[in-house]
Amino acid sequence: MERVLLKNIENPNSAEIDEYLKAGGYRNVSKAFDMRPEDIIEEVKKSGLRGRGGAGFPTGMKWGFAIADPKFPKYLICNADEGEPGTFKDRPILERNPHLLIEGMIISAYALKAEYGYIYLRAEYPKAKEILDRAIRQAYERNYLGENILGRDVRFHLTVHQGAGAYICGEETALIDSLEGKRGQPRNKPPFPVNVGAWRMPTIVNNVETLANIPYIVEIGGEAYSKIGNPECPGPKLYCVSGHVNRPGVYELPMGTTLREIIYTHAGGIRNDKELKAVIPGGVSTPVLPASMIDCRMDFVSMPKAGSMLGSAAVIVMDETVCMVKVMHRIMKFFEHESCGKCTPCREGTGWLRRILESIEKGNGRPGDIELLRDISEDMMGKTFCPLGDGAAGALRGMLKHFEYEFEEHIAGRSRCKGG
Ligand code: SF4
Repeated sequence: MERVLLKNIENPNSAEIDEYLKAGGYRNVSKAFDMRPEDIIEEVKKSGLRGRGGAGFPTGMKWGFAIADPKFPKYLICNADEGEPGTFKDRPILERNPHLLIEGMIISAYALKAEYGYIYLRAEYPKAKEILDRAIRQAYERNYLGENILGRDVRFHLTVHQGAGAYICGEETALIDSLEGKRGQPRNKPPFPVNVGAWRMPTIVNNVETLANIPYIVEIGGEAYSKIGNPECPGPKLYCVSGHVNRPGVYELPMGTTLREIIYTHAGGIRNDKELKAVIPGGVSTPVLPASMIDCRMDFVSMPKAGSMLGSAAVIVMDETVCMVKVMHRIMKFFEHESCGKCTPCREGTGWLRRILESIEKGNGRPGDIELLRDISEDMMGKTFCPLGDGAAGALRGMLKHFEYEFEEHIAGRSRCKGG
């Protein structure tokens, strides 16, 4: 498959506008401006593109809701708050291919009739901030941003807004509150941001990778795009692989590539010739899968059938030396720390779960602890304001589903695990 999202990134100057133009960049802006906005939305619908941030909502449908709302101004926000542990798939676009994202945003803004856009960037990506600021300056100089873009009656202004390091601001309504200068906490939904978003105006929040797909959809057409990868949720996909593999990194592959192919063909297999034990397929909010299940396909349709989720396609690979109790304890510590505290089941539940996991890991587990973990996580599922609570509970339930015996062994042995 030809590279779309990571095209040309080996070029050390790939972030420069001249290099991007030389490789054919920005030509889809002119093509899009020759189309009617509603025709672009139709192509995106036809393409079957689904949001790459984790939820997998059909992009064309989301755009359709926003455009149906008569209120103006409308805002376009790129969610670049890539905070899910294990996730670094958007980073090569932001740092090596920023003009692809800007081109995607110009076309999307034109289709959505949005005249102002923001890239909400995670605080921990300072290099990306510098690169994006420079790329945006270059795009203004060449009249791809600003007023009367390319001599047409189109205006679009774009600004980078840096977050302050809170994981929860990756959730779109918390992101909007943070952008508005408020404390970043999820809002009640409905109303959804497509109707009541930034400054209470219709706002479309799309992930970096989602927006970077738009120029290619305009270039080849929605139908041709829909034939890439799994026809049920097609397109090129960035998988970021970390953990015990020989070649960790970001791989662009057709949506629906199996975990086995990602780990063994592209990431070079398990390092030091160890056995694979488990994989967290889509960032720590997604349930773990044991080694026996790596023939499942990594897409929005196949992963739920396997009992997990595609999430942010952050494939965390663990070899035979890993202690799953320790892993779960570490994950829960993260969720406890990042819980914004707005709703009780998440605020209290993550802390309670962490304390029990810590006591099991330290060799102080008690009979009944596993049932208690299950009870608490059951009481959290579906009862929290935003997906953080569900993610924390779901990750634990996945761990118990496949590796309960390790928790039992820890409790029975009352000894601290020596695993990795
Ligand atoms: Fe905040 Fe957690 Fe409730 Fe989300 S689920 S709103 S992070 S307390």
